[in-house]
Amino acid sequence: MSGLPDLLTNRGEALALLRRSPACVFTDIDGTLSPIVADPAAATMPAATRAALQTLAERVAVVALTGRSVAHARAMVGLDTVVYSGNHGAEWWEEGAVSIEPAAEPYVERVREIAKAVERGITIPGALLEHKGVSLSVHYRNTAEPDTARSDILDFLDAHAGGMNIREGKMVVEVRPPVELSKGEAVRSFTRRKGLASALVLGDDRTDAEAFAVVREMRDTGAIHGLCVAVATADAPAELLASADYALADTAAVGRFLTWLSGEL
Ligand SMILES: [Mg+2]
Repeated sequence: MSGLPDLLTNRGEALALLRRSPACVFTDIDGTLSPIVADPAAATMPAATRAALQTLAERVAVVALTGRSVAHARAMVGLDTVVYSGNHGAEWWEEGAVSIEPAAEPYVERVREIAKAVERGITIPGALLEHKGVSLSVHYRNTAEPDTARSDILDFLDAHAGGMNIREGKMVVEVRPPVELSKGEAVRSFTRRKGLASALVLGDDRTDAEAFAVVREMRDTGAIHGLCVAVATADAPAELLASADYALADTAAVGRFLTWLSGEL
């Protein structure tokens, strides 16, 4: 157990928060809205969760914060009323316009070269390259020996992705531009741009802890009202749980919460 209070039993607090307008729900996708599956390309979002998000997006801003490219994220969520911040804050999709953060743009070619090296050099059966333009991921969930695969992938990237930002998530190693971009910075920039009064953030992995940290920081300075909600499955990272206010048990609980919230707001 996470030791965190359950959001479903404290849902009134989330509702009161989001009545402070302008309000925003920032949410991760994989492991938060959609169950994690063996093949990331096969992940889907439950129809009820999509319907809840659609209603919610008519009431408050909804931003999907993801490590996926905005194109994949949009295909998965399937709603054009949602704003997408992809590649961990390096690219945005908003009302049909795609933009890449200027700091990340120069690294697109370097990421392409590293993706080619990974394709040739990482031959572990079951390892999966996801080339996302501004960044790439190497998934090892489907390898026979994930611990060995993880260290082999990290060794390979140490040798071939020098100078880049190498980060780990659940059964995945990511290569990102070495610039100050993260889900946290995405939350900060969107909050400033829209002059948000309140923000609720949902996430399940290490990179979501960066978004939680920014919300806590802005909350401490009185810039916004905010709540951070961890999806507290058995594999939830300690740093995520340590920076969350509330927990939801799994993606099904997230769906139930969003459905209730969309009906109340
Ligand atoms: Mg996730």
